[in-house]
Amino acid sequence: MLKTVDFSKYSSIKVGPLADVFIIEDFNYPKELYLLGHCNNVLIGPQHPPLMMLGKNFDYIKTENDLLCVGAATPGGKLLSFCKKHDIAHFELLPKLPGSLGGMIKMNAGLKEWEIFNHLHSIVTENGVVPKEKIPHGYRWTAFEGVVFEARFEIHKGFSEAQLELFKKMRDNQPNDPSAGSCFKNPPGDSAGRLIEAVGLRGHSIGNMAFSPKHANFLINLGGGTFEQAIELIELAQEKVFEKFGVWLENEVIVVDERHKGDNSPLHKPRT
Ligand SMILES: Cc1cc2nc3c(=O)[nH]c(=O)nc-3n(C[C@H](O)[C@H](O)[C@H](O)COP(=O)(O)OP(=O)(O)OC[C@H]3O[C@@H](n4cnc5c(N)ncnc54)[C@H](O)[C@@H]3O)c2cc1C
Repeated sequence: MLKTVDFSKYSSIKVGPLADVFIIEDFNYPKELYLLGHCNNVLIGPQHPPLMMLGKNFDYIKTENDLLCVGAATPGGKLLSFCKKHDIAHFELLPKLPGSLGGMIKMNAGLKEWEIFNHLHSIVTENGVVPKEKIPHGYRWTAFEGVVFEARFEIHKGFSEAQLELFKKMRDNQPNDPSAGSCFKNPPGDSAGRLIEAVGLRGHSIGNMAFSPKHANFLINLGGGTFEQAIELIELAQEKVFEKFGVWLENEVIVVDERHKGDNSPLHKPRT
């Protein structure tokens, strides 16, 4: 089934064209298409590859054999409500972490030392159940082939309201404007926001896209901002930070456009 999606409305950064998207209903899907989750970490360009998304069949939460089994199209907010209601611990981070479980697994989403992989048991792909130990992963990256259809977690009792409040507070500095979350990954031992600020780009805009005055590592849409303006800002920050600090900022936001295929960074890292 195909569904027409307006990515300038659907994506969290409010950038992107109108496009037909293939909806995956079962384990059979066209391998050549690019998979999207709920579009909270992507910047979709006019020359995007053909796209697909998981359908509603993959939006569910159930418990089986002492494991919490979550369909990959399930929104994080729904999982949070379930865990709160059933007194399940370790999902208190989710309120301000928008996205589907599939997107969270692929990105190993998290905050500081808390990552979605911490209490992951296994994932289900078309090849069957893959235990966490078999999936290479680290800070905002994972390496596995294909689509995650389900994520399974160990169940620990004791939902913590205190932790929920703490995680919410830790995010007080995030802007409310449309964004795709952090634009760049933090380089080891440093913060991307600090580096962007140090080269004078906090609050800097090109057209209607800007690095937020509230948090420099958030690339925000001021209203009607374009893909090209976003790319220009990303490249500007990478160049300026490299020039001043010799540090190459690696994109956390994923650029989905044929011109940047196979390379998350709009510019190739210069040789040192
Ligand atoms: C305001 C805001 C705050 C944010 N804060 C945080 C934060 O604190 N920490 C953090 O880590 N992130 C944060 N993010 C980024 C975002 O919430 C996460 O990356 C989230 O995991 C994205 O999920 P998604 O479903 O939207 O994935 P998408 O953005 O649609 O896709 C992201 C990647 O996941 C892949 N993918 C999606 N679904 C699947 C699947 N089923 N199987 C395999 N691969 C899949 C896609 O191919 C793509 O490579 C924030 C974003 C916003 C807008």
